[in-house]
Amino acid sequence: MNYVSTRGAAPTLNFCDTLLAGLANDGGLYVPQTWPTVAHGSPDASFAVRAAQILAPFVGDEIPPATLEALCRRAYGSFRDPLVAPLREMGENRWLLELFHGPTLAFKDVALQLIGQLFDHVLQARGERITVVGATSGDTGSAAIDGVKSCRNVAMVILYPQGRISEVQRRQMTTVDAANVHALAIDGTFDDCQDLVKAMFNDAPFRATHHLSAVNSINWARVMAQVVYYYTAIEQLHAVDSAPVSFSVPTGNFGNVLSGWIARQLGANVGHLIVGSNSNDILTRFFETQQITTAPVVPTLSPSMDIGVSSNFERLLFEMNGRDGVATADQIATFRTTGNLAVTADQFGTWIRPIFRGQRCSDAQTTAMIAATYRDHGVLVDPHTAVGLVATQACATPDEPVVTLATAHPAKFADAVEHATGVRAELPEHLADLLTRPERFTSVPNDLAAVQRFVASVSATR
Ligand SMILES: *Cc1c(COP(=O)(O)O)cnc(C)c1O
Repeated sequence: MNYVSTRGAAPTLNFCDTLLAGLANDGGLYVPQTWPTVAHGSPDASFAVRAAQILAPFVGDEIPPATLEALCRRAYGSFRDPLVAPLREMGENRWLLELFHGPTLAFKDVALQLIGQLFDHVLQARGERITVVGATSGDTGSAAIDGVKSCRNVAMVILYPQGRISEVQRRQMTTVDAANVHALAIDGTFDDCQDLVKAMFNDAPFRATHHLSAVNSINWARVMAQVVYYYTAIEQLHAVDSAPVSFSVPTGNFGNVLSGWIARQLGANVGHLIVGSNSNDILTRFFETQQITTAPVVPTLSPSMDIGVSSNFERLLFEMNGRDGVATADQIATFRTTGNLAVTADQFGTWIRPIFRGQRCSDAQTTAMIAATYRDHGVLVDPHTAVGLVATQACATPDEPVVTLATAHPAKFADAVEHATGVRAELPEHLADLLTRPERFTSVPNDLAAVQRFVASVSATR
């Protein structure tokens, strides 16, 4: 399978090069040149086997099927639940899809555990090494570190703002005992960390010397890996030939729900896609007004969704523009200068109205939903999942089967859960000693030269 950029001006790449490139060099995002058709499979097959089957058309002949299956088995062997993404019934026509049984307790593990395996396989075959550099304000950093900690051909440096992330989030990064991963505590904000990473990528000689790469949410392989659980959820429900199943997705960067749209595009029996937002509601406002307009980001109880612009939306925009990269690039450029992007009534009626629903949710509604879910079902849910449940309640009819994606373990946001229910969610056994494990990190000033010296000292070229 070959991949093209949403902005039409970057070279067409094969799967392995797309995996390693991350962002396209015209600033766009890579998407498959064509959408294949992918049939539903057996509910008795394991998650790893289904993953290898569903992802095969996107990988093509670049990785043999038996090898792809072995990589999937290794990736999903690290999950605590043998089903990897089990369903939990929550009353008539309602289910939770628990995506938090991976090593770092958030759905990002589903993609990043596989990406670690894919990176190592491809780099080993080519005799290459890379240095993954990223900035994190929470979940992505720990999931990325865990994904690559046993990769022989990847060094990883993650920048985080010192004193500005939770203790659990920090310790999930600093207590990983692997020589190839490095947590850098920056004396600055999350934006400072992001600026430092961008500056390193914009320094072409530095980028080339140290083989820099990224695993942020615009990497195609992340979106691709997330398609799998939309298929397996429908198969577990034996709903392949019955009424379409709708999915409610707590949304930030639009990566997770885009994977649901792709599953629908490939032929999965997906009904509506319900987009749940917190007070950072750029997508809900788009569904109401047909216009995308920026607004300042405000902090909420669901911090992994505190996002001003949902970068993965560009992939859907490309489809809405009839896969015209030049038109998409123009639209994005206008958006960057005016802060406003409008789609036509035709585009909205074809691509959005029949498929998407949207609902915003305040912190008070989030807390009330955590409390109600515990009271009515005896189940503790994290604040991100609660946003999804509020959206389900607002957007679905009683006879519509809806799966709400549970994107984080309640113990990851234990304070918010305790505040709502009076109950403290326990960390799973493998993390029970997290708060007493030795930490390993390096403090660095908010200074590009100092950060570059550190990256050079640990980079994969040594
Ligand atoms: C990242 C994240 C989200 C948002 O996912 P997107 O793909 O960015 O829309 C939701 N919930 C949790 C717990 C997350 O970590």
